[in-house]
Amino acid sequence: MSLLQADANKTAPCTSNSLSNYIYNDPPDPGKWADCVHCGMCLESCPTYEITGQEQHSPRGRVYLMKSVAEGRVKLNEQFMDPIFACLDCRACTTACPANVDVGGLIEETRGQIRQAIPLKGVKGAVGKLFLKGIFPHPNRLNTIGSLLKFYQRSGLQTVVRKTGMMKIMPEHLIEMEAVMPEIKQTVRKKYRNEKVIKAKNETKREVSLLTGCVMDVMFSDINDATINVLTRNGNDVTIPQKQTCCGALHVHAGDRETGKKLAMQNIEAFSDSEKIIVNAAGCGCMLKEYPELFREDPVMHDKAVEFANKVEDISKHLYDTGYEEPKGEIKTRITYHDACHLAHGQGVRKEPRELLLKIPGVEMVHMPNADRCCGSAGVYNITNPEMASAVLESKMQNVPEDVEMISMGNPGCMLQMAIGVQKYGRSQKVVHTVQLLDWAYKKEDEQKEDQ
Ligand code: SF4
Ligand code: SF4
Repeated sequence: MSLLQADANKTAPCTSNSLSNYIYNDPPDPGKWADCVHCGMCLESCPTYEITGQEQHSPRGRVYLMKSVAEGRVKLNEQFMDPIFACLDCRACTTACPANVDVGGLIEETRGQIRQAIPLKGVKGAVGKLFLKGIFPHPNRLNTIGSLLKFYQRSGLQTVVRKTGMMKIMPEHLIEMEAVMPEIKQTVRKKYRNEKVIKAKNETKREVSLLTGCVMDVMFSDINDATINVLTRNGNDVTIPQKQTCCGALHVHAGDRETGKKLAMQNIEAFSDSEKIIVNAAGCGCMLKEYPELFREDPVMHDKAVEFANKVEDISKHLYDTGYEEPKGEIKTRITYHDACHLAHGQGVRKEPRELLLKIPGVEMVHMPNADRCCGSAGVYNITNPEMASAVLESKMQNVPEDVEMISMGNPGCMLQMAIGVQKYGRSQKVVHTVQLLDWAYKKEDEQKEDQ
């Protein structure tokens, strides 16, 4: 029997707040569920409802359950955890909801309560603590991980591990990830650590700061490099504040709001002199824009977080809004675009990346049905919920047109997940970041000029 059936079998519901099971700091905001009228218009948008067909795995069911816990009708226990942690936090339901109910925000706040009531124990607890507290908040340790991965790839160890089948002792989703791991290069944070400002290539029109990100800089530093090239080409002086840290999205998604707040405070301080903060990872950008939510109950920090969030901009929107230079170099390719959830649903950025791609000479865009459907990456969801993530990915891959050569997007987590999809389903597409295409087109243009 599902949680919702169990609840429906009870007699008259009690609505007294004194019975609330949210007894820890930072409880869910009742204002967020107040507008839910149980209409069900969000159901079709939800990947986990599509797969399970169960109300408790739908946005409407989750909102009802979270509210029921607040009203003392459902207990905050292991059974309640399942639908709350099975949510992808993809925000598709908020886009579909006529009342704009912030289901993702509620899920994050509720996970905060669950993790305080039922802390992770055993191996899961130790691994979670190691990564969330021991590695991600520490850029130097992340760099060490990057160096180890680089050694693994370049020393021949990767070849030995693959040839001898040693990877087979690992869980399947880790094997899949290892298979698509990009070539690890020097991070841009390290590369530019002694440069106060990376100057615009020609006339300076504005100053911006870059959030380098954790996964982005360690695994995809070439995308950060491309971002800097494109920004400086378009009149932006770029700074990389060295005191910046992880955005905290993984922590907040996992229910560790306290670490999320500490990281937010550090970033607010690190970027205090910046006029604009450019982000090329949708998940990080969405988190930075939502810092005010973390400080709902702290008026001083809330004001600072609002000021900070107003400066955050996705790279594609920044270029589009500031009248970027359209490239003249030709990239002859058929391409489709995948909307990262935290870009399309989280930040409302849909048109800008498509426009950037369409303006590249030689690029032919092919429509992807349900382009804004989650790919199953969802932070570390593909590690914590591999079966559901796999089912979501299978559904996504069915929508990727067969006859395209590239799939473009704006989030590193999606890039890894889509690359797994390409490999798993025998496809051949190259997975790229939108800004990489633009950078390649500019480079082609420069080469053509040199040849003339
Ligand atoms: S979350 Fe929105 S769409 Fe879904 S049931 Fe509630 S009001 Fe309707
Ligand atoms: S955030 Fe995504 S997975 Fe979670 S309830 Fe909404 S649509 Fe479903």
